[in-house]
Amino acid sequence: MTAQIIDGKQVAADMRAEFREEVAKLRKKGIVPGLAVILVGEDPASISYVTSKERDCEDTGIYSDDNRLPTDTTQKELIALIEEKNNDPKINGILVQLPLPKHLNEAEVLLAIDPAKDVDGFHPVNTGKMMIGEKAFLPCTPHGVIQLLIRNNVTIEGADVVIIGRSNLVGKPLANMLIQKNTNANATVTVCHTRTKKLASHTKRADIIVAAVGRANTVTADMVKDGAVVIDVGVNRVEDATKKRGYRLVGDVDFEAIKEKASLITPVPGGVGPMTRTMLLYNTIESAKIAAGLSS
Ligand code: NAP
Repeated sequence: MTAQIIDGKQVAADMRAEFREEVAKLRKKGIVPGLAVILVGEDPASISYVTSKERDCEDTGIYSDDNRLPTDTTQKELIALIEEKNNDPKINGILVQLPLPKHLNEAEVLLAIDPAKDVDGFHPVNTGKMMIGEKAFLPCTPHGVIQLLIRNNVTIEGADVVIIGRSNLVGKPLANMLIQKNTNANATVTVCHTRTKKLASHTKRADIIVAAVGRANTVTADMVKDGAVVIDVGVNRVEDATKKRGYRLVGDVDFEAIKEKASLITPVPGGVGPMTRTMLLYNTIESAKIAAGLSS
């Protein structure tokens, strides 16, 4: 079997087109969703992420409030800015770009964000609500994975899903979302990690494998059942002398071999990555609707 490649860029583009229409309708009612993006320091990767997020907002019609602070910003100054944005009715979502410079306390900063504006879905209030099946802002990468499955007509209900990776960012929230009853996800989920014995014995029986590890070639073709759906969250640099920059990006799975066995597979880049930014826009629009009393 040769797998169909899941085109994350296309799914993301389709969703963004829907968002543009929705934001245009909201604007006609005088509602302008607003996202405050806060970047501390000069980390080039973070500058690039933040610039893309600001461009995404502009493209969708979301008001982007750009806050770039110097590296020596104090904890007190950063929290004061977050509080200002918490109280600003033009702002529906607050995103603090991570990682923060070492002298800042990340956990305390994230806790300072009003859970009603926590569009990254990292605040314990949102994590807790998600866990007990209440409506919450869902973290963007795992939510993006679920949207990729749904929009490619993958049956999640009743599926055996094996997630490799148990981070707070990806593995744990994804497992939680997939077992929920109220959203009709209803999957049976196994979460694997570095202490898992016989990883292949789990992956081999999976209908859906999600790899969120951060290590190239963690999943090889012999670990995958014929016809499985394979979602690769990982982003890894491998040396490549043919590339000008000296490396190329790959995921956690052996894409070339597994695509001959799986029914559906995501590429890296162009699979999960474009969905993460898209789900941030979704959460910001949702937050604006809740603030305007149009959604609960
Ligand atoms: P993380 O916090 O480092 O977690 C990695 C997880 O993988 C851990 O739970 C670890 O187990 C597990 N693991 C590592 N080696 C393993 C092995 N050999 N066998 C089984 N499990 C193993 O990473 P993360 O933040 O979840 O990110 C994972 C990957 O996804 C990274 O490549 C990251 O860049 C990428 N990512 C991509 C996006 C996107 O938008 N595309 C978003 C977020 C992350 P232990 O817990 O036992 O250490």
